Amino acid sequence: MSVCVVGAGLAGLSVAWHLAKQGVEVSLFDSKGIGGGASSVSTGLMHPFPGKKGTRSLRSDEGMKETLLLLDVAEQAIGRSVALRNGLFRAAVTEEQKSSFRAFQDPDVEWKEISLSELAVHEGLWIAKGVSVFSHLYLQGLWKACSSLGVQFYEECYDYEKRDRSLFDAIVLAGGWEMIDLPICQKLPLRLVLGQSVFCRWQRPLPFSIVSNGHMSVTEDPEICHLGSTYEHSRHPDPNQVQALMKRIGSFYLPVDELKIQEVRFGIRIAPKDGHMPIVKEVSPHTWVFTGLGSRGMLYHALLGRELAETICKSL
Ligand SMILES: Cc1cc2nc3c(=O)[nH]c(=O)nc-3n(C[C@H](O)[C@H](O)[C@H](O)COP(=O)(O)OP(=O)(O)OC[C@H]3O[C@@H](n4cnc5c(N)ncnc54)[C@H](O)[C@@H]3O)c2cc1C
Repeated sequence: MSVCVVGAGLAGLSVAWHLAKQGVEVSLFDSKGIGGGASSVSTGLMHPFPGKKGTRSLRSDEGMKETLLLLDVAEQAIGRSVALRNGLFRAAVTEEQKSSFRAFQDPDVEWKEISLSELAVHEGLWIAKGVSVFSHLYLQGLWKACSSLGVQFYEECYDYEKRDRSLFDAIVLAGGWEMIDLPICQKLPLRLVLGQSVFCRWQRPLPFSIVSNGHMSVTEDPEICHLGSTYEHSRHPDPNQVQALMKRIGSFYLPVDELKIQEVRFGIRIAPKDGHMPIVKEVSPHTWVFTGLGSRGMLYHALLGRELAETICKSL
């Protein structure tokens, strides 16, 4: 059985690995290399309560369990850690947030006052299950694991309309936001959100990542932190948004002026118009689309990639 996977981000690599694990011959296409899209700029945070409201996401336990398994796979493949599994702090920066967080009832969170008073806002929700994934290393590890199972990579654009699709038994379109422009996907309820990813040198590191109105995550390099947010409904980056992000970070990380920006990147994530579950759908016979991971890429890519691989194998 031979399957073509278009896109080597979280979605494409996950489905490629799960297919290859079942003995399928996988050809993986990405015009920008491994992790050339939103996945490599992702702040890499995973926990069950993403989004503004902070309510528990559907199937979050299953999603986290599957991602943790894939993190192990990536770590074995490259022989080093690709994530920090030491919890996340959801900082309460307004009085409204403080009262709503205090009332939050869930066994996986606790209202906490952390003792980092000179560094950070110290009231909020402690999410013990939170994980900070080093996105770039994780993608590298997952690709290495795919490659060791025989997945073939082609650094080229796969033009779905023009290619001879009969060469494969099935096609998975996991091209992130670019799927929105494909005629076959145009009726899918999707929307685009642009975000910034800013790498900074910090003199006073935090021991864990903080999620708030803009995120600050630890990285594999103890001297570098990764700031990120995705809020703009546009395809075109606005450099002023970087200053706006720094201001938001300053609302919970007090020595924000000491941060030295090393690199700024932009990325577009694609989200479902309604709800938060990504779209996994057979859009024409033997052609599947797997996109719309939104801000829950880390939470859902492994689970839905496994389920899609199983569905494809059963259908052929
Ligand atoms: C700034 C920012 C911060 C984020 N932070 C987080 C976070 O902390 N936690 C979290 O869970 N999520 C986060 N996200 C969201 C997360 O990054 C996405 O949900 C996830 O990466 C989407 O993965 P994907 O594989 O669907 O798409 P992508 O990673 O965009 O991959 C799609 C790939 O397909 C390729 N492609 C497209 N069309 C073709 C074609 N025709 N031929 C060949 N190749 C093609 C592209 O080159 C691209 O590499 C963040 C996003 C951004 C932008």
